[in-house]
Amino acid sequence: MGRVFIIEIEGRSYRCKCCTIPLALAHDIISRNFSCSRGKAYLFNTAVNVTVGAQEERMMISGLHTVSDIFCCNCGQILGWKYVIAHDKLQKYKEGKIVLERGRVARAGEGVNDLNLESSPSLSDTEDA
Ligand SMILES: [Zn+2]
Repeated sequence: MGRVFIIEIEGRSYRCKCCTIPLALAHDIISRNFSCSRGKAYLFNTAVNVTVGAQEERMMISGLHTVSDIFCCNCGQILGWKYVIAHDKLQKYKEGKIVLERGRVARAGEGVNDLNLESSPSLSDTEDA
């Protein structure tokens, strides 16, 4: 293993539940109502300190997507996945976006007034297993 560079981020953030390094900013969240095969998840614009795995095609409720699993760059636990290609035009907005599973991240920072996103659309991407 090479040296791991951890990027620190300012403000409210989501951190790896295992090793607590920062992964994404609370204000980069697109949806809190995402689902995956292992439960609830968050959709983010971007994330840091993650390692992107091999691309694979995955059939989800919303259609075929090319995705890569993402892992914590520090402790190596799987965190979720990244959308590389959405094959359905209506899902194109997800390309380049990051899904972090709720059970694998912890929120850090102060303040609770970013909880007013409840009006965001309910999205779901349960994998067909
Ligand atoms: Zn970690």
